[in-house]
Amino acid sequence: MKRAVYPGSFDPITNGHLDIIKRAAKVFDEVIVGVLVNVEKKGLFDIDERVKLIERVTKSLSNVKVRSYDGLLINLMKQEEAKVIIKGLRAVSDFEYEFQMALMNNKLDSTIETVFMMTNAQYSYLSSSAVKQVAKFGGCIKELVPDEIIPDIMIKIGE
Ligand code: ADP
Repeated sequence: MKRAVYPGSFDPITNGHLDIIKRAAKVFDEVIVGVLVNVEKKGLFDIDERVKLIERVTKSLSNVKVRSYDGLLINLMKQEEAKVIIKGLRAVSDFEYEFQMALMNNKLDSTIETVFMMTNAQYSYLSSSAVKQVAKFGGCIKELVPDEIIPDIMIKIGE
């Protein structure tokens, strides 16, 4: 079984993330979305909320699971018996950091491969932080995130 982990903060999940998840779910038997618990950075949504939002928008994808993790990604990989990390690339600016991470993860466990998927051109400008900025200042986030989570974002921003 070819199982891959797609890690990130997903605060919140965007249509760019969802596009990568859907494409990865066609390539791999199972895709595990790994939501990173970052104790240093308080997000808009807490970890359980992020997991639930991702579960809601991926519920029609039967081979996608969502897990949270803290610490090293390779520990989640071991736990889930996955050998492939999926990363999305938006621009050259993503490359240097991702290249370093891929080499480091391979150094920590040489059986792990990182696979990069290019962003869909229509989402190349999209990030969770951009969505939060737009929502905060009253802009329209339709088409940036799945429709069914727009109310959750608007409520959170208003709190
Ligand atoms: P963000 O930068 O939006 O806060 P994350 O840290 O949650 O995103 O990113 C998780 C993964 O998703 C990373 O591999 C990132 O490069 C990728 N990703 C984020 N946004 C997009 C997008 N619009 N298109 C393709 N990949 C993306």
